Amino acid sequence: MIKRLLFSGWLAFLFSAASVSAQQTLLHCGTLIDGRQNAPLSQMTVVVSGNKIVRVDKGYTAPGSGDRVVDLKNKTVMPGLMDMHVHLESETSKDGTLKRFTLNPPDVAFESTRYARNTLMAGFTTVRDLGGSGVNISLRNAINRGMVVGPRVFTCGKSIATTGGHADPTNGYRKDMQGDPGPAEGVINSAEEGRKAVRQRYKEGSDLIKITATGGVLSLAKDGSGPQFTEEEIKAIVDMAKDYGFKVAAHAHGAEGMKRAIRAGVTSIEHGTYLDDEAIALFKKYGTFYVPTILAGRTVADSAKIPGYYAAIVTPKALAVGPLIQNTFARAYKGGVKIAFGTDSGVSVHGRNALEFEFMTEGGMPPMAAIQSATLVAAELVGMKEQLGSVEAGKLADLVATDENPLQNIKTLRNVTFVMKDGVVYKGGGLGE
Ligand SMILES: [Zn+2]
Repeated sequence: MIKRLLFSGWLAFLFSAASVSAQQTLLHCGTLIDGRQNAPLSQMTVVVSGNKIVRVDKGYTAPGSGDRVVDLKNKTVMPGLMDMHVHLESETSKDGTLKRFTLNPPDVAFESTRYARNTLMAGFTTVRDLGGSGVNISLRNAINRGMVVGPRVFTCGKSIATTGGHADPTNGYRKDMQGDPGPAEGVINSAEEGRKAVRQRYKEGSDLIKITATGGVLSLAKDGSGPQFTEEEIKAIVDMAKDYGFKVAAHAHGAEGMKRAIRAGVTSIEHGTYLDDEAIALFKKYGTFYVPTILAGRTVADSAKIPGYYAAIVTPKALAVGPLIQNTFARAYKGGVKIAFGTDSGVSVHGRNALEFEFMTEGGMPPMAAIQSATLVAAELVGMKEQLGSVEAGKLADLVATDENPLQNIKTLRNVTFVMKDGVVYKGGGLGE
C-alpha cells in the first residue's frame, strides 16, 4: 500500500512537471533586434517554451492560461551576446604573475565561478574560453549541470604552444622549475607532437583547439609577434582537429605567423595586430574569421603605464602592441574580412565585455554590424548557426535586453538589464535577480 502511494505520488510529480514545461513564457518586446533583419522591429512577442523560441509574433500576444508574461515593452531585446575570446580562469591584477605560484586549482575554480557569473549577467550568454589550465573544462561542465551560473562555454582547455612559445606554461620560471613540458601540457615541437596534443585535448574534454601561432604580449618572454609554429606543424594540428570535429583558433600578432595559420586552415585568427594587405587577401580567400580583441589592446596599453603592473619583460610589448589593434580592426573591416566579436576578457575585467562594441563602432563599424558580429557571425564561428545568434522559431532561447536602443546609443550595452539563457531568466523581467 505504501509502495503504491509512493508510486502514485511520483506520477503526480511527473504530471505536474509535464504541465509546467508546456507553460510558455511570452516576452513582450518594445523593440526587437532579431539578428537577421537590418531594421529593428517594434511591438513584438517572443514565445518561449522550455529552452527554445517557439514563435515570434507581431504585436503583444495575450497569454494563454498558465503562461507568464515578461514585460520588456520599454526595452530593446536582442539575441544573447556571444564573446568569442575570454579566459574565465583569471582576471587582470597586479599580482597576476605571483598567482600562478600561489593559487591551487580549486582556488582558480572558485574564482572562475565569479567571472562566469559576471559574464552572463553582462548579457554574454555564450563564450569561447581560449585557454587556461583545464579548470575551464570543469567550469563548463558545472555550468551545464546547473551547479554554477554562467554562460554557455566552448572551451579549448589548455592552449597549444611550442617550447618557449606564448602558451608554454613554464615561461619565465626558474630553470629547475621549467622541466620539459610536452604535448600533454600543450607544448609541441613537431607535426607528430601536434597531432598528439590535439588527441590529448579531446581526451580531456575540450570543445575546440587553440594554438599560439606567434609570440604574445602577456607571456614572460621577449618576443611578442614572431612566428612560433612551422606551417607544417599547424597543418598537422588542423588536420587532426578535423577528425574530432574541432575548430582551431590561432592567436597571432605578427603577419608571418598569421599567414601560416590561415594557409594551414585555422578557423579564426585572434588579435591579428600586424595584419597586412596580403593577410587581408588570405582571410578572404580562406573564409577565416577575425576576432579583434580591441579591449585587450586598450587594457594592456593602459595597465602598462602603471609602474610595476606587469613584469619588466611584458611592459614594452604591451606598450607597443596594445594601441595598434583598433587601427588593425578598422583596416580589416574596410577590407571586407569576416569579423566575430571577442574581447580577451580576463586580460581585462570580466563583465565589461560590451566596451568592445564602442571600440568597434569607433573603428567604423555600424552598430547593427557590431551586434551581428556578437550574435549571428559568432554563432557561425562556433558552428551553432542553426541554434544560436538570432531570434527565430526553433532556436535556443538566449535573449537579452537593454533600456535604450543600442543602434542609437551603443553604450547602453554596458548595462544589460534582462538576461535569459536556455529559456531561464537570470536577470530582470521581474523574474530573475
Ligand atoms: Zn587570449
